[in-house]
Amino acid sequence: MSDKAAKGVDPAHMSSAEFRERGHEMVDWIADYWDRLDQWPVRSQVSPGDIAAKMPDNPPEQPGGPEEWGAIFQDLEEIIVPGITHWQHPGFFAYFPANASGPSVLGELLSAGLGAQGMLWQTSPAMTEVETRVLDWMVGAFGLPDAFHTERSSGVGGGVIQGTASEATLVAMLAARGQALRDNPGVSADSLTAYASEQAHSSVIKAAMIAGLAAHPDDFSQVRKIPVDATMGMDVDQLARHMAEDRRAGRVPFFVCATVGTTATTGVDPVERVAGVLGSGGERPWLHVDAAFAGVMALCPEYRHLFRGVDVADSFVVNAHKWLLTNFDCSLFWVRDRHALLSALAITPDYLRNAATESGRVIDYRDWQIPLGRRFRALKLWFVLRHYGLEGLRAHLRKHMDMAAKFEQWVREDARFEVVAPRTSSLVCFRPVGSDGQAHALLDAVNATGEVYLTHCMLPRFDEHGDRAGSCMALRMAIGGMKTRLEDVARAWSILTEQADRLSASSSG
Ligand code: PLP
Repeated sequence: MSDKAAKGVDPAHMSSAEFRERGHEMVDWIADYWDRLDQWPVRSQVSPGDIAAKMPDNPPEQPGGPEEWGAIFQDLEEIIVPGITHWQHPGFFAYFPANASGPSVLGELLSAGLGAQGMLWQTSPAMTEVETRVLDWMVGAFGLPDAFHTERSSGVGGGVIQGTASEATLVAMLAARGQALRDNPGVSADSLTAYASEQAHSSVIKAAMIAGLAAHPDDFSQVRKIPVDATMGMDVDQLARHMAEDRRAGRVPFFVCATVGTTATTGVDPVERVAGVLGSGGERPWLHVDAAFAGVMALCPEYRHLFRGVDVADSFVVNAHKWLLTNFDCSLFWVRDRHALLSALAITPDYLRNAATESGRVIDYRDWQIPLGRRFRALKLWFVLRHYGLEGLRAHLRKHMDMAAKFEQWVREDARFEVVAPRTSSLVCFRPVGSDGQAHALLDAVNATGEVYLTHCMLPRFDEHGDRAGSCMALRMAIGGMKTRLEDVARAWSILTEQADRLSASSSG
């Protein structure tokens, strides 16, 4: 009798014995993948359509059976891996890191295995209570205000895990919109105006598009792009001027997004000064702080100054799924006043009514987010915290900060290159001296080696008086991979210098 039949399991499903065997094989495969990462080019070399062309036109009609797993592992190597850009590769310096540590991946696996939905407290109390407790821990760990702490704020504020920082910014904007319309009776949504620096993430304008406040990405009729100064942080005088002009024109400033760690350069908007010009009472717009990447630096006391002013923010988001060893997705979001968020998002159809909700003693996180269903994402963060401890996490960040300081020094000491933005994190923005065309050619040449992967951005330039002087293309060296060591950073620097020399020799010859 087969194992399935013996246990009375529907033979259509995988038996526990088979799951155990294939699961062990899959974990082995992942462990081996992590060990042999540097045997592949960092960025996938395939052309559009190459991967799809290796797959059949139709799904299988018949069950594959246990032997199918041999074919699945073969496809993994032959179809999937060539089409993967290896984000965990030691030479991955593109975008921002997306750390996927062992404890976090095991937490993810366990969450999938439990297969529970945490939309209501009642649908899995542990999912809600672990999330609340872990987010309260992180309030202390990041030095955030007690107003964000579920317990210490007596349930007025609190934290929740969102899928992404983009969703967090969207729900913050929706909460702010509702609050502004309640505080300003008679004002229509067309009068509401949001503000963010020109270097803010595209998720701000996208949130405005979804919230019905912008028709398309270039519609800035209700979203003001505030210029940055030479620090790459928001020019707060300009913010104050725009808000005053808007108020004089009968508009209602309702949402200000301050970024701590912009996407292009990790520039920092001076949150304390931003907070200082917002006004007071019903006039004061919602202050959202987007610290998607750099927010984790608040774990280290020596970087806390970057977050000055956050204690008066209405909401704050930081991604554990970038640099905090927790695999995607796990975006930590806090609000000072959960009622504003709930007013925008809560809805209780009859089929979700239950005694626990009615008692008012539990949190139903479905009311804090866009979807109804939710995974047990807190589990992976909990595992990460238990495995590394806060000291281990700080060491992880400091290691990359030190590597970035070294890389920056090499760039500064080399007359062929220049640093083009102040460095606040483990990201260095630099370029070869010369034209944007030369910078692009260098980026392409370096990435073509397959040993490293860097990306680029466009930046405003400033002269020695701090005045605008055009713009330029910059290469971004974003350091933060789990496997990245100083020798990988040094190797990236030799590739950059070798390729720069090769290009200049070929252009002069
Ligand atoms: N905000 C900032 C400052 C970012 O740098 C990013 C992504 O890099 C985001 C928001 C979007 O993050 P997510 O992918 O979690 O939406």
